[in-house]
Amino acid sequence: APILDVERVRRDFPVLHQEVHGRPLVYLDNAATAQKPRAVIEAVDRFYRRDNANVHRGVHTLSQRATAAYEGARETVRRFLNAADPREIVFVRGATEGINLVAQSFVRPRLRPGDEILVTEMEHHANIVPWQMVCEATGARLRVVPIDERGALDLEAFHRLLGERTRFLAVVHVSNALGTINPVAEMVAAARARGIPTLVDGAQAVPHMAVDVQALGCDFYAFSGHKVFGPTGIGALYGRLEVLESMPPWQGGGDMIRVVTFERTEYHDVPHRFEAGTPHIAGAVGLAAAIEYLEGIGMERITAWEQTLLRHATARLAEVPGLRIIGTAPEKAAVISFVVEGIHAHDLGTILDHEGVAVRAGHHCTMPVMDHFGVPATARASFAFYNTLEEADRLVAALHRARELFGL
Ligand code: PMP
Repeated sequence: APILDVERVRRDFPVLHQEVHGRPLVYLDNAATAQKPRAVIEAVDRFYRRDNANVHRGVHTLSQRATAAYEGARETVRRFLNAADPREIVFVRGATEGINLVAQSFVRPRLRPGDEILVTEMEHHANIVPWQMVCEATGARLRVVPIDERGALDLEAFHRLLGERTRFLAVVHVSNALGTINPVAEMVAAARARGIPTLVDGAQAVPHMAVDVQALGCDFYAFSGHKVFGPTGIGALYGRLEVLESMPPWQGGGDMIRVVTFERTEYHDVPHRFEAGTPHIAGAVGLAAAIEYLEGIGMERITAWEQTLLRHATARLAEVPGLRIIGTAPEKAAVISFVVEGIHAHDLGTILDHEGVAVRAGHHCTMPVMDHFGVPATARASFAFYNTLEEADRLVAALHRARELFGL
């Protein structure tokens, strides 16, 4: 039996069935944002048609339904990450907001001048800048685990850098620029052995593999809904319950309090304490629908099919003269960054678009990775489980065409 019935899966994604510049669309920009199955579009539509009301405040029927849907979505995210308790799931705007919440509420109050936060050279800017901001405010220092020429972490350096002054480890699970899958369980265990709390940026992991936060042992895990086939503007931050309970709120407002007077305010319990204001209710509903859709297919099957796509695309890309893949770590997700000698990444992106092939060209919010490899930008083909082997071939054919156009 095939790993996955891709043609059947593709029928669930309306956006895939269109032409771009007269060619059938080949969507290979999934690391930027993933497409939405009908189940998600319809769940959001149904919520607004039937159940829309504000949550946690109303006694009326629609408000109760909206609250049940929102809190039900929290339980669905808990199951997806195998967290122990739904109170460990905080709804946020996305991975970026989740990381900023941890930086401001958990890490910043614990930092003294000379303390260190450890990140890696392959982090997305979302897992660099929030730490620089708290360092700036406290006199702490950012330390960086280097990567090697394959785009894999230098683990010896990691163990060396994990030191007396390290107060926090923030590491990406799967690199959006290189595809590298990091040994986060091992890294978290090493940090824990020294009593150092950890955050894993899972934005690019959850669309590709089963994630179990209890098995990882991390204190925090952040991801974005839109990269996992759900809506934009919603994401989740997992935090271990006792850690979340130790944290003050970050933003103040309605919905996060129990009692407010002008003398003092009593905060709500976890996780509501971290969800000030009216949340993205329909977004949470759509995210839950996306997760249920993925569960219906099975993450193991998704991983297996994407590994098939990765192997096929990597082998075929090797046939393109002058093409260099940036990121050749042994453990990789189906994200392929590359440069082609004689053609700037942005020109490649434009030519590929004319062939109907959507890829990203740029620094992918990982400028230090570009610096490491000495390139200003790469083109990046990032696959999802709805991509086909023929689409990988279309990418390769379009690259041959680009070389012809450049007289190469
Ligand atoms: N981390 C990684 C690894 C990412 O790929 C991204 C999105 N490109 C983010 C964090 C930030 O996600 P968002 O913009 O959805 O908050």
